[in-house]
Amino acid sequence: MKLENMEKITTGFYNTPIHKLENLSKKYGINIYIKRDDLTGYATGGNKLRKLDYLLKDALDKECTVLLTYGGQQTNHGRLTAAVAARFGLKCGIIMDGPAPKKASGNLILDKMMGADLFFMDDTSFKDEKPDVKADKYKQLVDKTTAEVVKMYEDQGEKVYMIPIGGSSPLGAAGYVMAAKEIKDQLEEMKVKIDYVFTGFGSVGTYGGLYLGAKYFNAGFEPIGISISHKNEEELQEKINYIQETSDYLELGIDVSRDDLWIEEGYVGISYNIPDPVTRKYMYMMAREEAIILDACYTGKVFRGMIEMIQEGKISKDKNVMLLHTGGIPGIFSDSHSQAMQEELWGEDQKEFKL
Ligand SMILES: *Cc1c(COP(=O)(O)O)cnc(C)c1O
Repeated sequence: MKLENMEKITTGFYNTPIHKLENLSKKYGINIYIKRDDLTGYATGGNKLRKLDYLLKDALDKECTVLLTYGGQQTNHGRLTAAVAARFGLKCGIIMDGPAPKKASGNLILDKMMGADLFFMDDTSFKDEKPDVKADKYKQLVDKTTAEVVKMYEDQGEKVYMIPIGGSSPLGAAGYVMAAKEIKDQLEEMKVKIDYVFTGFGSVGTYGGLYLGAKYFNAGFEPIGISISHKNEEELQEKINYIQETSDYLELGIDVSRDDLWIEEGYVGISYNIPDPVTRKYMYMMAREEAIILDACYTGKVFRGMIEMIQEGKISKDKNVMLLHTGGIPGIFSDSHSQAMQEELWGEDQKEFKL
């Protein structure tokens, strides 16, 4: 399938804006820009809509009636899959890690507002096993749950379209291959040269797509992927293989070599989606300098990585940099993150006035 011939259904508002962060640029003595993929427009926005443009087209072509996907309980991808399903008259099922919580917060509330069906995988019986046993049992649980959920929908006469975690199939990544072209065109119009675009490195459709798109379209910038969770060698290699598969699937003719990818592992914080005080320090800085709200799971880490790399001299100050804001804002209202922010931002000393 050639990229140029691929059809999509536009599920978000594009082009998203690019603008300069004036206060931060002054503070750090380097030109810092931002690309606002938090403003893709539906259900509080985010990067996953660009992937869903292509996945939805494929689902409708195959006459599917249900979009079924996977994620953690605060999955932004699940939320935006629910948004697309709502708008295009489909059902949405999200299979989630962990037992069902007693109380909904953050993304879970939005999922339910948009009518998604949520399925929880209770892993408590094997949670404390050794990593390899745990991984094996987890896979069994995913397979079992998927089979049962698919059967449930099929018994209702529905046809299920499966979307992998994060929407990161080779097809989904086409959204960010094309976003590289969008960025190139916008920068040309603005007469701005950007050297590096910082983005999260999660399920990798975003970084991988941007990397391939920047090369394919000769966009003039290099993406830097900031890891949002710790990865071992094997996991990292799987991600690199996925980028190669995407290049092959879209017939981009790009050979993906590990040495050519810029992936930074040093700004993860504590772990995936675990409240982290250093990440929050950067989130508060962005809010106070630029009135832009970052999330604690992804974009806060990417911003931290960008600033610390500038300070560490990994990025020289004569370069122009851009942060890709990939959304994720509802996650800050999830229980664990909002609790951590309460403790830092909300003391006993609120000023009150009475008559
Ligand atoms: C999913 C997500 C990312 C990471 O994108 P991948 O394509 O999964 O690597 C970054 N930021 C936010 C807010 C996300 O929801």
